[in-house]
Amino acid sequence: MKKLMIDMDDVLCEKGFIRMVNEFLGTNYKQEDAGSYYINDLIPKDRLEEWVKWYSTKNAYDYVDIVEGAQEVMEKLNKVYDVYIATAYVFRDAPQVSGKTLYDKYNFLIKNFPFIDPHKFIFISNKELLEADIRIDDSPKKLMGKAELKLLFTAYHNKNMTDEELKENKFVRVNNWKEVENILLK
Ligand SMILES: [Mg+2]
Repeated sequence: MKKLMIDMDDVLCEKGFIRMVNEFLGTNYKQEDAGSYYINDLIPKDRLEEWVKWYSTKNAYDYVDIVEGAQEVMEKLNKVYDVYIATAYVFRDAPQVSGKTLYDKYNFLIKNFPFIDPHKFIFISNKELLEADIRIDDSPKKLMGKAELKLLFTAYHNKNMTDEELKENKFVRVNNWKEVENILLK
């Protein structure tokens, strides 16, 4: 079986961070408003401490949607591939509260992807350390490790990556789980 490594945030689940930021600030921002990968950049610097305190009392995964089709296609992929979920969990704004994020991530995964063996959840920062035949991630940076096929899952922060840039990096863009299914299961 080929090793298939799949990211969690903005691939399996989405929109959690922007909802948290909006609830905290009382705003109505869209993900694109962050102007980068880091939605928490929308938090004004002088409220950072307050934000971290607030964040650490919440389960970020209470705020997410499961990406359409993710569960169905993952279940099918899991029968044909050796599937791993590799996810970063260290909270950039306050690494010391990341233990709770890890706990909440784990619980979200066992509840919503119960067909994946928890031994195949990988909680990590540098995904380049991992080897896989196929990688799926929304972060171009996190797709940099070895793989024969790299699928860039479309997200708010990578929409502007041009076809040329994709080609240079040997990325194949996928816009949704239907497209993942068409590439990996046909
Ligand atoms: Mg991600």
